[in-house]
Amino acid sequence: LTQLFRPLDMLGMVYRTIRQGLIDMAEMFRLLDTPVEVPDAPGAPALVIRRPSIVFDDVVFGYEPDRTILHGLSFEVPAGQAFAIVGPSGAGKSTIARLLYRFYDPLSGRILIDGQDIRQVAQTSLRAAIGIVPQDSVLFNDTIGYNIGYGRDGAEAHEIETAARGAALMGLIDRLPQGFETEVGERGLKLSGGEKQRVAIARTLVKNPPILILDEATSALDTRTEQDILATLHRVAEHRTSLSIAHRLSTIADADRILVLNEGKLAESGTHSELLRRDGLYAEMWTRQAAEAEAMNEAAE
Ligand code: ATP
Repeated sequence: LTQLFRPLDMLGMVYRTIRQGLIDMAEMFRLLDTPVEVPDAPGAPALVIRRPSIVFDDVVFGYEPDRTILHGLSFEVPAGQAFAIVGPSGAGKSTIARLLYRFYDPLSGRILIDGQDIRQVAQTSLRAAIGIVPQDSVLFNDTIGYNIGYGRDGAEAHEIETAARGAALMGLIDRLPQGFETEVGERGLKLSGGEKQRVAIARTLVKNPPILILDEATSALDTRTEQDILATLHRVAEHRTSLSIAHRLSTIADADRILVLNEGKLAESGTHSELLRRDGLYAEMWTRQAAEAEAMNEAAE
């Protein structure tokens, strides 16, 4: 009988490994277009994290040989800080996230996490260290508990519950007919955009990574939901190093530092008030977005 169980056990392990890989891939769906297989360096050791800083050191990158997207980008996110990246559409914001997750390697320059070149460490350890809260989460046709536990293989019921609490999902779950056992997704209960995002936050809490990439939603949630989610994200980002890819500036005004990317270069960086005083690209984007928000409000009235 053991002879029968061993291969089954192996299959289970293979299945779990593939499943975890698929979640990470699914979470990266929006960030990623055509991933290129990037091999591990032979005998690459695991990434060791003591203080999870992120460094981009003169990074040059392009998807195609004749079109450079990042032109020698350098910045450092010190451990424990919350940074945001803003900039016009196509500036290369999501590309930064894709490089950090090592879907691609830079053409030149280096990316370091806690002082280690990410090309020199095992990819599984790199990806285990980074949590992504995407703007559009994929829900599986399964229970809400299963969808949260997906964040890490082997997550226990009490961990799933703690994560749901951390993501402010308990109000919803308590109202569901079968609590954590309620079926969600296309064939079950359909969750709203805000609720799906909370599931993604809960998944990330289960994974408990030292580094977070927050890919802010472009599709506007209503203001109240957005404020609630932002407050939750702020709590989740505490004691971690985070990088938010922001489309609307109102959501990142209190970041420790804002990096303004333009045409693959760092155009400006500073806190919200420093950048407003500078009266450059950020100030211009801020004024434009404020005017747009006002026009929307007037139209809604
Ligand atoms: P947005 O705010 O619109 O999401 P972004 O600043 O995140 O934009 P990126 O997604 O990083 O921009 O893309 C930067 C540039 O790289 C764009 O011009 C885009 O067309 C190009 N690009 C992105 N992915 C690929 C790819 N797989 N192959 C070729 N070019 C790509």
